Amino acid sequence: MAKIIDGKTIRDYNLNLMKEEVAALNEQGIYPCLAVIIVGNNPASRVYVNNKKAACDKTGIISREYALPEETTTDELLELIDKLNADDEVSGILCQLPLPQQIDKEKVLERISPSKDVDCFHPENIGRLSIGNGIFLPCTPNGVMKLLEYEGIEVAGKRCVIIGRSNIVGKPMAMLMLAANATVTVCHSRTENLSEITRQADILVAAVGVPDFVKADMVREGAVVIDVGINRNVNERLCGDVDFKEVAKKASYITPVPGGVGPMTITMLMRNTITAAKNS
Ligand code: NAD
Repeated sequence: MAKIIDGKTIRDYNLNLMKEEVAALNEQGIYPCLAVIIVGNNPASRVYVNNKKAACDKTGIISREYALPEETTTDELLELIDKLNADDEVSGILCQLPLPQQIDKEKVLERISPSKDVDCFHPENIGRLSIGNGIFLPCTPNGVMKLLEYEGIEVAGKRCVIIGRSNIVGKPMAMLMLAANATVTVCHSRTENLSEITRQADILVAAVGVPDFVKADMVREGAVVIDVGINRNVNERLCGDVDFKEVAKKASYITPVPGGVGPMTITMLMRNTITAAKNS
């Protein structure tokens, strides 16, 4: 039976370390501050934004919230971002996704100054990451790396297989694992013989967005299985991409959903905000 990787414990461990770091920065007159923009009334976005604020409170990071109405235009949002880019008291800026349809998401994300782009979505920051010179690390993939590190799971030299090639999870996950000297394979919706590839993984990362997508016969005995998925099953209950019950019988380590990767994403956002404050 696999060891369950407890994302909440690892989150608390990291947040406590950051709390001490923020207190030391405050003594030097540095006050990390995260500006979070939320547009409209998406209930899931509201939960995420509240969780981000709670993590700021835990670490001593100042949080500012900018709640804009559903009908906000791209230009209005860009105007706010320009203001926050120019505000020396703001270390990091985050625009909660998804944005309402009328807003040009790419334009908005590219307007956030790369030095305040704590989500690490700006093309400049992704480019830097790809040449191993990142200022920020992408939050969810970096959260996965921290879980592995905490558990003492070696990545160097290992065969890592990632299912999913999104810009937010799959691709940056591959970059971080490559930087950590893994041999990386990225699978996606057009991959042929998927199970054959996933069965070769020492570390398997699922970022698909389909409940129970990874079955036990796709996993090698003793593999480490990281479930990034956050989905709702037929009963509307939160679940990941991995058939947890069956896969846990075969894996050496496994992350649960909820309580695995999820808590680490916001934790790494706090890390990036502190980095931004130190660099400003
Ligand atoms: P996405 O929809 O952008 O990408 C999904 C990827 O899965 C695509 O690259 C696609 O090629 C691949 N895929 C789809 N069907 C496939 C198939 N049959 N075989 C192989 N590959 C297939 O999603 P995303 O933004 O990368 O998110 C993935 C999941 O992770 C979602 O459940 C999302 O909610 C979750 N997520 C969690 C966190 C977190 O903090 N834990 C953060 C971001 C996303």
